[in-house]
Amino acid sequence: MEAYDTIIIGAGHNGLVCAAYLLKAGYSVLLLEKRPVPGGAATTEEAIPEEAPGFKFNLCAIDHEFIFLGPIIEELQLQKYGLEYLLCDPHTFCPHPDGKYFLAHKSVAKTSANIARYSQRDAQKYGEFIEYWSTLMSAVAPFFNSPPQAWLDIAQNYRRKNLVDALTIAGSKNKALDFIRTMITSPEDVLSEYFDTEIVKAPLARLAAEIGAPPSQKGITSGLMMLAMRHHPGMARPRGGTGALTEALVKLVTAEGGVILTEQMVKEVIVDDNRAVGVRVAGGKEYRAKKGIISNLDVRRLFLQLVEPGAIDSQLKDRVERRIVNNNETILKIDCALSEIPRFTAYDGQNGNEHLIGTVLIADSVNHVEQAHALAVMGEIPDANPSMYLDIPSVLDPTLAPEGKHTLWIEFFAPYQIAGKEGTGLQGTGWTDELKNKVADNVIDKLAEYAPNLKDSIIARRVESPAELGERLGSYKGNYYHLDMSLDQMIFLRPLPEIANYTTPIKNLYLTGAGTHPGGSISGMPGRNCARVFLRTQNSIIPKAQESIKSTFGSWLGLN
Ligand SMILES: Cc1cc2nc3c(=O)[nH]c(=O)nc-3n(C[C@H](O)[C@H](O)[C@H](O)COP(=O)(O)OP(=O)(O)OC[C@H]3O[C@@H](n4cnc5c(N)ncnc54)[C@H](O)[C@@H]3O)c2cc1C
Repeated sequence: MEAYDTIIIGAGHNGLVCAAYLLKAGYSVLLLEKRPVPGGAATTEEAIPEEAPGFKFNLCAIDHEFIFLGPIIEELQLQKYGLEYLLCDPHTFCPHPDGKYFLAHKSVAKTSANIARYSQRDAQKYGEFIEYWSTLMSAVAPFFNSPPQAWLDIAQNYRRKNLVDALTIAGSKNKALDFIRTMITSPEDVLSEYFDTEIVKAPLARLAAEIGAPPSQKGITSGLMMLAMRHHPGMARPRGGTGALTEALVKLVTAEGGVILTEQMVKEVIVDDNRAVGVRVAGGKEYRAKKGIISNLDVRRLFLQLVEPGAIDSQLKDRVERRIVNNNETILKIDCALSEIPRFTAYDGQNGNEHLIGTVLIADSVNHVEQAHALAVMGEIPDANPSMYLDIPSVLDPTLAPEGKHTLWIEFFAPYQIAGKEGTGLQGTGWTDELKNKVADNVIDKLAEYAPNLKDSIIARRVESPAELGERLGSYKGNYYHLDMSLDQMIFLRPLPEIANYTTPIKNLYLTGAGTHPGGSISGMPGRNCARVFLRTQNSIIPKAQESIKSTFGSWLGLN
C-alpha cells in the first residue's frame, strides 16, 4: 500500500499551499483531488471548447485581494513558477440606469474626484471611509496570518504600522467599544452613517454583501473591507487567469517531490484507535498516512461524509451538523465568449476601455442589492430585476481570448434550494437546465439595458446552476466560502471554537481550506496556517533528517 507522511484531501489552492510548506519542511505529501484538474474554486478552463475554442474562463474566483495581505507569494517564490499579477486600476465601475456612474481607481483621491461630480460631501466622506477600513484591515491582518490561538505568532506579525493602526481603531475605551459596535452592526447602517447618495452606497453595499448575505444583516460589516482592500493593497489578477496561481503552486509542489493524483474522490478517512491512518478512495484503493491527514474540505463534509459516525463524539457531531451555519445563498455562474467588447452607455468613454479593467457592478441602489441577497436566502430567484457582479477579464489580459475577442464572467446570486421545488430537479434543489437558462436570459436582458451591443456579441455561453456548482465544488449548498462568513463563524469561532485551531479530536487529522480561519477567498492563508500547526505538532525542527536517521540507524539505536 502506498504510504506518505501526509495526505491532503482536495487540491484546492489552500491544499496546494499547505502541501508546498510541508514539502519544503521535508515531509512527503500526496494530494488527492476528485476533479480531473487541481485548483478547486481557483481554475481557468477552456470550458466551451467546441463552440468557443481558445476562450479561457475563470469558472470561480477571479479578483484577488486577500492574498496580498500575507507573505505566501514571496515565501513560496511563486514568480519563479510563472505567477505574474496584473493590477486592476480602475478596479470598480458601477453604471446606473440614469446615465451616472461610480468609477473607483486605486487612488482614493482620483475616486473621490469622480464622486465629487455628484456629491461633494460623499466625495470627502469616501476618503474618511477608506481610511477607517484600511486602518482596521492593517490592525487585524496579523491575525489572518497566524493560527487563531497562536498568540506568539500573532504578536510577531505585528509591525509598528499594525500596532499604530490597532491603537487608532481601538486604543481607548470608547474607540474599542465603537469598534465592537461597528463590527456587530450591518453594512447598510454603516453606509448610511457615511454617505447620502446611492451612486456611492449601492456599489459599496454590493461588494460588502459579497460576503454572502444581504447588506442589512448584522454581523457582516467585515465585508466593507472588500472595497478598502481594492485601494490598499489593491486588486489584481494572475496573467492567464486565476488558474495561473494554481499552475504555479502545482509546479512548485511537483518540483518539491509532491504527488497530485486527480480523479481520486476520497470516500473515507480510515481511523484506527482514534488516529487517522489513511484514506480510501472511490474504487476502494487505500493510501496510508504516517503523520497526518489534512482536509481541504470543511469539517461538515469531513465529519459527516468521510469519517465513520462512531469515530466522533456524538455531541461534537451534532454541533457540526446543527450549529454551523450555511445560508441558502449561492451563485448562478454565466460565462460568455464575446465577439466584441460590451459598450456601456453610461460611460462617457474619455479613457477608452479603462472602466472595464476591473469589476462591473450592476447595483442600482442598496435596496436592489438587498433584494438580490434576501430573496436568494429565502429560496426565491431574484431575476425580476437582477443585480450582478461581472468582469471582462480579457480587457486586462488579452491572452484569455482569441485576438480582438473577449470573455465575460457573470456572478448572479441565487438560492441553492428553490422554495416550493423541494425534491425536484438536480439534487432535489428545483434547478433544471431549462430554469437555469431562463434565469441566465433574464440576467443578460438586464445587462443589455446598460450595454446594448451585448446580446448580439455572444458567440457561446456556459451557465452553471447553483446545484451544478455545488456538485463541482462538493461544498454544502454550493457555498463558495465552504461555510458562511458571518462574525459568529470567524477567527477563533471558525468552524467551531473547539476545532478552530486546524486540529480535530481525532489524532493526526487536520483541517484547512475556506472553512477554517480566516475563511474563504483566494488568500492561501488557511493552507499556510494549517501547515504551521502541523509542523509544530511534529515537535521536530528537521523531521526528514530525523526520519532518515531513524530508518538507517533505528534498530541499532533501539528506536524502531
Ligand atoms: C463562483 C465563485 C466565484 C468566486 N469569486 C472569487 C473572487 O473573485 N475572489 C476571491 O478571492 N474568491 C472568490 N471565490 C471564493 C474562492 O474561490 C474560494 O473561497 C477558494 O477558492 C476556496 O479555496 P479552498 O482551497 O479552500 O477550497 P476549494 O477550492 O473548494 O478546494 C477544495 C478541493 O477539494 C476537492 N474535493 C472536494 N471533495 C473531495 C473529495 N471527497 N475527495 C477529493 N477531493 C475533493 C474539490 O474538488 C476542490 O478541488 C469565488 C468562489 C466561487 C464559487
